Amino acid sequence: MPPDRKLDEAPIEAVVLDLFHTLVDPEEFRPPAFHRADHIAERLGVPREPFVRYWRETFPERLVHREPSVLEWIGEYARSVGAPASAGLLREIGREIGRVPAQALAAPRPEVLRALDELRERGIRLGLLSNCDELEVRGWATSPLARRFSFTGFSCELGFAKPDPRAYEAVLQGLGGIGPERAAFAGDGSMGELLGAKRAGFRRVVFVRAFVGHNGLRTAKQRATFARQADLTVDRFERLVPAVTRPLPARRRRAAAARRGPIPKRPPV
Ligand SMILES: [Mg+2]
Repeated sequence: MPPDRKLDEAPIEAVVLDLFHTLVDPEEFRPPAFHRADHIAERLGVPREPFVRYWRETFPERLVHREPSVLEWIGEYARSVGAPASAGLLREIGREIGRVPAQALAAPRPEVLRALDELRERGIRLGLLSNCDELEVRGWATSPLARRFSFTGFSCELGFAKPDPRAYEAVLQGLGGIGPERAAFAGDGSMGELLGAKRAGFRRVVFVRAFVGHNGLRTAKQRATFARQADLTVDRFERLVPAVTRPLPARRRRAAAARRGPIPKRPPV
């Protein structure tokens, strides 16, 4: 048996999953034309464009730190432009911008929960790896998803975000030190997470097209790119189970093995 085939038939012991647009789709709960940064600017009563720029520029910081909190970032901006916001207004803004992710987290689709349960019944450990700020995941603890995961990796707590290899490593470590060659990664493809998973050495990388196939967030071209970056694409979440438990078809296996060769463990410094 060729070595790549042997490797691909060793069972997958863990699946690391992205959260938003993979396990739940906030777009299903987003009011029409609701944009977080626009809404904050409006509520603060400050000009939209400079605030949107500030919000975009500080995004990488919010992604990998729990402190300052999202509301502190907003309050700091308001102060800096001479339009200080009261604690009450900040709390209201927090509730308003937190509503969409909270609603999504509270109501995952039954087929998602079933597929996760099926993976667990097969002895596969589940890890979460989400690029998120602290406010987006305040509803996690009470989500039906939470208890299904053996390890929860939020970038704002880990201090690393995808596609940084250290983010993936932290989750695999949290799952008990499972090697990436025994693990699969599944996500909707945003922020380079699929390529990052490849670089981190995951044996199988799955593009979950279920939500982004139709929610309008991605163009056909972007979806085609994500499909190329992954070993497999699934259009329905429940297809994730065979996608990580069955050997790859021969053609895919050869392609994955060819790709494994030149992919460095670490991005070039
Ligand atoms: Mg996502």
